[in-house]
Amino acid sequence: MSASHTLPKAGGLLYDEQGRIDLKSLSLPELERFTQEALGERPFRARQLWKWLWQKGARTFQEMSDLSGELRGRLAEKATIAFLEPEIILRSADGTLKYLWRLQDGQTIESVLIPDGERTTLCMSSQVGCSMGCTFCLTGDLGLRRHLKPSEIANQPLQVGRQLPEGTRITNLVLMGMGEPLHNFENLLTALRICMDDNALNYSHRRITVSTVGLTPKLRELAARLPVNLAVSLNASTEAQRREIMPITKRHSLEELLEACREIKLPAGKRITFEYVLFRDQNDSLEDAARLVKLLHGIKAKVNLIPYNENPDRDLRPPAPARVQAFQNHLMSRGMNCTVRTPRGQDISAACGQLGKAVG
Ligand code: SAH
Ligand code: SF4
Repeated sequence: MSASHTLPKAGGLLYDEQGRIDLKSLSLPELERFTQEALGERPFRARQLWKWLWQKGARTFQEMSDLSGELRGRLAEKATIAFLEPEIILRSADGTLKYLWRLQDGQTIESVLIPDGERTTLCMSSQVGCSMGCTFCLTGDLGLRRHLKPSEIANQPLQVGRQLPEGTRITNLVLMGMGEPLHNFENLLTALRICMDDNALNYSHRRITVSTVGLTPKLRELAARLPVNLAVSLNASTEAQRREIMPITKRHSLEELLEACREIKLPAGKRITFEYVLFRDQNDSLEDAARLVKLLHGIKAKVNLIPYNENPDRDLRPPAPARVQAFQNHLMSRGMNCTVRTPRGQDISAACGQLGKAVG
C-alpha cells in the first residue's frame, strides 16, 4: 500500500477528544482502509459510506439506512461526521452571499457565493488566516491561525449547495477565499478529490480553480497531480515591485515562478490565469503593462485585472476606470487574453482581499 493510503496518525485535528476520526477528512482510499482496518468491513462498504457523506450529505450514521444497525453503532463509536453551520449569511445588493462559518474550535472562516448569469461561483477558504503577509491583503493581517481540514474545505460547497433554492446550483469552485491553498497542500488535495469524485461532489476539473501566491514547488506538484485550473497572483511587473508587496517573492523569485509556469505541461485548451491587482500609481502604468506582456511571453496565459478593493486600513487606492481600461487595452493590443474583474459584494466585505474583516 502506498504512503498516500496510510491513515492519518492519531492526534492532531483529525481525531476528537474521544479518539473518533473525522471521516469526511479522509480520501476514498483512506476511507476504504478505515472500513477495513477499524471496522473489518469490505471496500464496498466504504463506497456506500462515501456516498452517504458526500452525495447525500448525511449528518448522522442513523440515517444510513442500508447499513446494519450494528455497523452504524460501531461507526458512531469510532467516527464523526463533520458539517458546517452558517453563523451569519450576508446578502449583498448585487446578489452575492457571504457565509461565515464557525468551526468546532471556535475559529471562523468565510465562503462567498457569486451568481453571475449562467455561472454561480463559490469562493472557498483553505486556511484560517494566512501567513504569506501580502501587504495589501486583510486576510494576511490575521496571520495563520490554522490550516483547514479536508472536511472543512469540502464541506463549504456541500453546505452552500444544499441551501440553494431549487433550480440553482454552484457551477464553479475557486480557491480564492481566506488562506493560501498550496500552503495547506495535502489537505487541499484530499478536498479537491472529494470535489471532483463522481460519487462525491462531482465537479469537473474544468470548473475548479486554485489561486496561489506563488509557492513554486507546490504549484508544479499540483499541476502534475491534478488537472484543475491554475491561477497565480502576480500583482507586479518587476521583481522589486513584487518583493515589496508580496514577501514570498524573497523565497521564490518572480523569475522562478514564471519559469515554473512556462514549464508546466497544461492539459489541452488550458491556460494559467494571472491575477494582477491594480494599485493606483504603483503598478498601473502602461510601462507596467508592457513589462507584463514581456514577462508572460511564452506562457499560455490569461490575465485577470482586479482593481484594488479599498479598505480603511490601507492607504492604497484603485486606479481610475480609464486607466484600468488603458491597461487592458494595451495587453489586448499585444494579443493577450485579458479580462477585468468587477468587484462583487463590496457592501458586505465579500470582495477579494476583504475576507477576515469580521473575524474575531
Ligand atoms: N492566497 C491565494 C488565494 C486567496 S487571495 C492568492 O493569494 O492567490 C485571492 C486574490 O485576491 C489574490 O489574487 C489576491 O492578490 C487578491 N486580493 C487580495 N487583497 C485584495 C484587495 N484588497 N483587492 C483586490 N484583490 C485582492
Ligand atoms: Fe494570503 Fe493570498 Fe492574502 Fe497573500 S493575497 S496574504 S497569499 S490570502
